[in-house]
Amino acid sequence: MAQLLLIEDDERVRSALMRSLRDLGHQVSSAPDAMTGLRAAVDHRPDLVVLDLGLPDLDGSQMLRMLRGVSDVPVIVATARDDEDEIVRVLGSGADDYVVKPFTAKQLDARIQAVLRRTGGAPADPAVTVGPLRIDPRGRSAHLEGRPLDLSPKEFDLLHYLAARAGEVVAKRRLLTDVWDLPFGGADKTVDVHLAWLRRKLGETAQAPRFLHTVRGVGVKLVDPSGEAR
Ligand code: CA
Repeated sequence: MAQLLLIEDDERVRSALMRSLRDLGHQVSSAPDAMTGLRAAVDHRPDLVVLDLGLPDLDGSQMLRMLRGVSDVPVIVATARDDEDEIVRVLGSGADDYVVKPFTAKQLDARIQAVLRRTGGAPADPAVTVGPLRIDPRGRSAHLEGRPLDLSPKEFDLLHYLAARAGEVVAKRRLLTDVWDLPFGGADKTVDVHLAWLRRKLGETAQAPRFLHTVRGVGVKLVDPSGEAR
């Protein structure tokens, strides 16, 4: 599954492709012209862009150069022209691959997978698993032993931050800057209070910790209580 941005001015082609790509498990957003597409590429940071070359506002190669100016997102160009020169030109302007219209969503999907593999952008599952704890940052949900945890936004951020660094002692000052966006010198109490709340929701206490271990004078680390991960 990837987050795709489809830049295509033909409304019928656009909605049909979006539907098919979603059916194939992708998340798809779209833009009807080059300028909207450029903005969306910057704002939504897609894993890959599918770019129709025949757009109303900008020539395809121009669009590619502008896109390359703001992003190194992989791009698959969709061209109606079975024109070798044109294809060579867009590949030279920074496209990663191309498909010639008409194409099926399945063909496009195969190209998408190949490009993502090649560019190393294959969207890894962003979820973090530490023993029986699973945290999904995309859905902002956390599960313990398969049961959903009811966390406040900050508790979630804190848990995700620590779980993504499982086994590593993280200084409370670093938590304040990275999780709370507070400058150095903020109150450590904030962290302690949230850690206490988090412990309660994880069914543990500071005296009998499972996941959250305080290292006195240093910070806190999250560990797999079953000891499989460090
Ligand atoms: Ca078009």
